[in-house]
Amino acid sequence: MLSPAPTPTLQVVLPVPLPQWFDYAPPPGELPHAGVIGRRLRVPFGSRELVGVVAGIGTVADGATLRAAVAWLDPAPLLGGELWSSLQWLSRYTHAPLGEVVSTALPAPLRKGEPVPDTHRWGWQLTPAGQEPGVKLRAGTRPHRLAELLGNGSVDEDLLDEALYDWRSAARALAKRGLVERVALAHSAALPSLRPGPCPNAEQADAIAAITAGKGFGAFLLDGVTGSGKTEVYLQAIADCLARGRQALVLVPEIGLTPQTLARFRSRLGITVHELHSGLNDNERARVWAAAARGEAQVVVGTRSAVFTPLPNAGLIVVDEEHDGSYKQQDGIRYHARDFALVRAKALDIPVVLGSATPSLESLHNAHAGRYTHLRLKQRAGEARPPTVRVLDVRKRPLKDGLSPEVMQGIEQHLQAGHQVLVFKNRRGYAPVLLCHDCGWTAPCKRCDAPMTVHAGGRRLQCHHCGARQPAPLACPDCGSLALQPQGIGTERLEEHLVEAFADYPVIRIDRGTTNRRDALESQLASLGDRAGILVGTQILAKGHDLPKLTLVVVVGIDEGLFSADFRASEKLAQQLIQVAGRAGRATDPGEVWLQTHHPGHPLLETLVNGGYHAFADAELQQREAAGFPPFAHLALLRAEAQQVEHANAMLSGVRELIAHDSPVERFGPMPAPMPRRAGYQRTQLLLSAPSRRPLHALLDQIMPQVYALPQARKVRWSLDVDPMDL
Ligand code: ADP
Ligand code: ZN
Ligand code: ZN
Repeated sequence: MLSPAPTPTLQVVLPVPLPQWFDYAPPPGELPHAGVIGRRLRVPFGSRELVGVVAGIGTVADGATLRAAVAWLDPAPLLGGELWSSLQWLSRYTHAPLGEVVSTALPAPLRKGEPVPDTHRWGWQLTPAGQEPGVKLRAGTRPHRLAELLGNGSVDEDLLDEALYDWRSAARALAKRGLVERVALAHSAALPSLRPGPCPNAEQADAIAAITAGKGFGAFLLDGVTGSGKTEVYLQAIADCLARGRQALVLVPEIGLTPQTLARFRSRLGITVHELHSGLNDNERARVWAAAARGEAQVVVGTRSAVFTPLPNAGLIVVDEEHDGSYKQQDGIRYHARDFALVRAKALDIPVVLGSATPSLESLHNAHAGRYTHLRLKQRAGEARPPTVRVLDVRKRPLKDGLSPEVMQGIEQHLQAGHQVLVFKNRRGYAPVLLCHDCGWTAPCKRCDAPMTVHAGGRRLQCHHCGARQPAPLACPDCGSLALQPQGIGTERLEEHLVEAFADYPVIRIDRGTTNRRDALESQLASLGDRAGILVGTQILAKGHDLPKLTLVVVVGIDEGLFSADFRASEKLAQQLIQVAGRAGRATDPGEVWLQTHHPGHPLLETLVNGGYHAFADAELQQREAAGFPPFAHLALLRAEAQQVEHANAMLSGVRELIAHDSPVERFGPMPAPMPRRAGYQRTQLLLSAPSRRPLHALLDQIMPQVYALPQARKVRWSLDVDPMDL
């Protein structure tokens, strides 16, 4: 018997949590061919319609039951070239479905199937009929003035807006008579009018020369103390890239993209700098994406997801503050924007610059191993000198709302000298817990394994993990006592105390409770201006703005971070301390940093204060190596959560059973997550660890298709996190 001839199909990836590609017949009247790869199309899926992307051309043995795609959405492939192959790499690396990776990478309107937005500039011109000498328009009327404006050629609509009130009605009238027409203007890539910056010092000059040497791909770790002029190096490297007619992409952390930063880029580079961040609406983001895809956007500055910007004409990628945790996406496709930027730079054969005053241990390790060129800026640029650091031993000292008398005196002196003071506390709210003094009861969140944080001066309780809020009880629910007291110090309580103690000075609190929006932070800082005053806040204050009047930084409450179980806690604490210390004395007035602690002899503090960040990092890397932690091990974490813990554990046990007994990959778990219950869900995890990437990914390649199909997976929410940041 003859088997039927195989039927050609479109292999489509869809935004669904399933690893496979889906076969469809092309829309009626067409044959599949390779030129459609990367095109979006609408396909039936169950009872719905979804937007998918063609990833391949295949065949099925019997096409009789094949469903047909509904319609093409793009005349030509939307995804192609380097971005398309890098997204496929990302799908393989994260072991996430390509359809979900694509949908993470695309701006929402494109993901939903809308056309690629227009990025043309539009203008108006006279038609041949309109240029005839015989055309009569009454002098002084708006149509006459418009025709005059267009006399020398097409004019941009933006310019017409400025030149002639209500020109549109005149244009409509003239268009009806066939005298004018609307035209898309060529997008002339504007030549930058570079404004010269300061003359680079020797270290900066070496760094710029290395980055712009023009040898294709190269990874550079720009390791420079705060204020050493890293941004100057970026700007000069970008200027070089623009001069070669290439595009530059700059990634910044979530709280690093300030209007100040953008203004500095714009004024120095002298061209439009496109911004991409969560503050834009979906259409604006799609327009920037499209402008980059067409090569029109020459410089894009954006946060994490800007790493998916198409760069058909790429010349340079910069990742500022490369150590920042906000580069790692913590849900959905768990990618790391810095690491993906490296992959893209390699595929694009262009340089990538990772800049930081406190490089991640991963990047330092890569630099030591020779994979990155290590560029160091050891001095502050310009006039500013490094701040002096003092460790204040507060054991047995009377603390008032967490502040010692020495600290209060120091603040007073700096205020009287007309300067600003930053009091840094990594804990927002009024107090971390509400405690009953009679029976020891503490207010727990009903849905999480965590205490509720006290807010509003003690009147409200709030969970920082699930967002639950409730009024604080007046009496202890367990013993009825009225002796309920807030324990510990948050930013609100510090603010209250400082307002009382320094009534003559402005005290401004800045944390995620007071600033949900970028411009709110901006206007709060503007309200302080150059006046003497106090800023109280969390790490949101640790970077970004230049505060030239800031001369004293007081850090309180670091002790909690010194004894955390998380293997990355020391690294994060050290980075935070160095970053916040870097805020002091950025201008000509010398700065001071005071660390208030009960553990002045703690090795982390001693190494950091006496040896600086690099001494700390060397010691920490040795410990990581001895303990078998990243960057000396490669990890993947499977997380599962369910209303009943048995379901979560059954899922992860099922995964564990898929792994051969003699696999070189070590597995730990299933075990409870660091916070075993959150927002009402029981959470467990299974950790996989291997000394190198290869066996880990070989194992994941082998088991992941089966993991998706596990029957136990249906009762839980689960995820895989390759290179997890929190264990
Ligand atoms: P970073 O990005 O490392 O924090 P910046 O590039 O913002 O440092 O530079 C810090 C300050 O020093 C800025 O005000 C900048 O204009 C100035 N600066 C940078 N490089 C030089 C230089 N070579 N000479 C003089 N001033 C400089
Ligand atoms: Zn009680
Ligand atoms: Zn909660």
